Amino acid sequence: MSRFWSPVVQTLTPYIPGEQPQMERLVKLNTNESPYGPSPKALAAIHEQANNDLRLYPDPEGAALKKAIADLHGLLPKQVFLGNGSDEVLAHVFLGLLKQAKPVQFPDITYSFYPVYCKLFGIDYQTIPLGSNFEIQANDFKSPNGGVIFPNPNAPTGRALPRTDIEALLSRNTDSVVIIDEAYVDYGTESCIPLLRGPSCPENLLIVHTLSKSRALAGLRVGFAVGHPALIEGLERVKNSFNSYPLGRLAQAGAIAAIQDQEHLEITSAKVIATRERLVAELASLGFDIVPSTANFIFTRHPKQVGAKLYQALRDRGIIVRHFQTARIEAFLRITIGTDEQTDELIAALKEILVSA
Ligand SMILES: *Cc1c(COP(=O)(O)O)cnc(C)c1O
Repeated sequence: MSRFWSPVVQTLTPYIPGEQPQMERLVKLNTNESPYGPSPKALAAIHEQANNDLRLYPDPEGAALKKAIADLHGLLPKQVFLGNGSDEVLAHVFLGLLKQAKPVQFPDITYSFYPVYCKLFGIDYQTIPLGSNFEIQANDFKSPNGGVIFPNPNAPTGRALPRTDIEALLSRNTDSVVIIDEAYVDYGTESCIPLLRGPSCPENLLIVHTLSKSRALAGLRVGFAVGHPALIEGLERVKNSFNSYPLGRLAQAGAIAAIQDQEHLEITSAKVIATRERLVAELASLGFDIVPSTANFIFTRHPKQVGAKLYQALRDRGIIVRHFQTARIEAFLRITIGTDEQTDELIAALKEILVSA
């Protein structure tokens, strides 16, 4: 606390990211990173770009990266907005699209950065409870509102809505924007991006993606949003009032190569999905309840165990998962899907904990 803080700083409750412990030999299953490396082509492009040109500012528009994203998804470059990680994209979305007279709506259990942005920007919000099985109840998001935002699949539950439910929501909710955060879409969820193609692109749908999860580039910091060109133009106005160069030369070069290596994405995502299905089966046989997941993590509880204790017992064995001390979900752990070897270690540790409990 300092008397030199501005009044707003005193009221903030910052987001707490999952820890990045520096200890070695940890099984780190707490921040939904990919257990596999990024595309070797992305690494080569970053090496290639590490040259004297770094004395020069990068392209402030990121034109080549926008074109690569547009080509991959069948969109126009003017439908693409870039940011330093999708968290930065989301920050601009809250300020530029969701700060309205009416409150923004998001689920009661969802990405915990959303209420943090609301606080920072002075945005009113309403939380819409998930159903009893943690499903997003799209029908409960009702107009009037200042906008709707949720991840699909949702975080930290991993549960997804079919695209038809989102289309139905869009058809009811025509007077505010609908933001779908598709951070985990590559692990078996239907993307809404096809809705944005061609002349029928809705004016009020924006989809946010990150290269941090399925493209294994959390350390590079690249995210993007796609939507109607007029929404993108609004976001560009915010970005150009904040930081003209959110993406450095290395990030732009690496991201282009990563986006163009769809094969690497498909191979690594398929491995994660296979490991997820194996982990789900093993946990079920140990008596865990598991929320159906199409993400690179699962949300699970054991009916006879206290969430915080399980979390600590795993930690004592060098396995870090995520536990949220939040109403409705204290009993649950969010476990990132790691390699098969990490999964074996996790299962062995859980068996040991359950026997001694
Ligand atoms: C991880 C995550 C993000 C942020 O990713 P960046 O690393 O900032 O690109 C955004 N939304 C959700 C739901 C996430 O889980």
